[in-house]
Amino acid sequence: MQIITDPAEMQATAEKMRLQHQFTGVVMTMGALHEGHLNLVRMAREKAGTVIMTIFVNPKQFGPNEDFHRYPRPFEQDAALARSAGIDYLFAPQAELVYPEACTTTIDPGPIATRFEGACRPGHFSGVATVVVKLLGITRPHFAVFGEKDAQQLAVIRRVVADLNIGVSILGAPITRERDGLATSSRNIYLSSDERQQASVLYRAILHAEEAVTSGRRDLETIAAETETLIRAEPDAVPDYLCFVNDSTFETSSLATPGNAYRLVMAVQIGTTRLIDNWRFECR
Ligand code: AMP
Repeated sequence: MQIITDPAEMQATAEKMRLQHQFTGVVMTMGALHEGHLNLVRMAREKAGTVIMTIFVNPKQFGPNEDFHRYPRPFEQDAALARSAGIDYLFAPQAELVYPEACTTTIDPGPIATRFEGACRPGHFSGVATVVVKLLGITRPHFAVFGEKDAQQLAVIRRVVADLNIGVSILGAPITRERDGLATSSRNIYLSSDERQQASVLYRAILHAEEAVTSGRRDLETIAAETETLIRAEPDAVPDYLCFVNDSTFETSSLATPGNAYRLVMAVQIGTTRLIDNWRFECR
């Protein structure tokens, strides 16, 4: 595995691979690698001859009161994990080289970026879209794998890549979960042991919704309200939002109709840690 920190060197290497007709995939991360990231790598490894991983804690997607400075950055450990997962190139640039002073362009993904995560975290998806387009330009892959854990992010990236004719396939990978169902996340380490136990309520909420839908119910608004009550029963859990949405537009849906796909999306504050999760289903 080759570690590259200079965007110009990464881009030149990627160009060379293109000329040699190497089929390449990229997995973009902010580091603090865990099983969820490694499953994205496995998916990329199955399809690509060359797999690039990026590790970049993107300042532009954090709000002023968010955890940019305390976000974990265990680089040596990440590099070892990336190497053993079969990564060919690890691209880990410094922010100054990704955003030199002259760089003023930002991407506005439109309405989908204003809802839910976008409403709670103003500017977040503009920061995500801008860095993803830059990293695609630097790494020049044929495809990129993103996790369904960040389902709205995945939908925003699909929108941006289609709207800007970027010509890279965007693949979604299923959510990796811990034994009790909590979605694996770099932020789970912020939870105290008591909060960690309470955090499993996100998955229990999903199971409740799944059971309701599987039993034939279509009243999504009521199911969401029940699910929210279940979450609020935990002493330190406060939902930011919890809602069923249309799976491609992320518009709120109160009733499921056959032939459409929906997603239950939620963000829940557990103490000072904010967790997100989601569950998708197709109404038959
Ligand atoms: P992050 O490092 O948190 O920005 O995540 C990098 C990529 O890994 C994103 O595409 C995430 O959606 C994905 N990811 C993170 N956690 C998980 C998980 N538990 N299951 C699936 N994908 C994940």
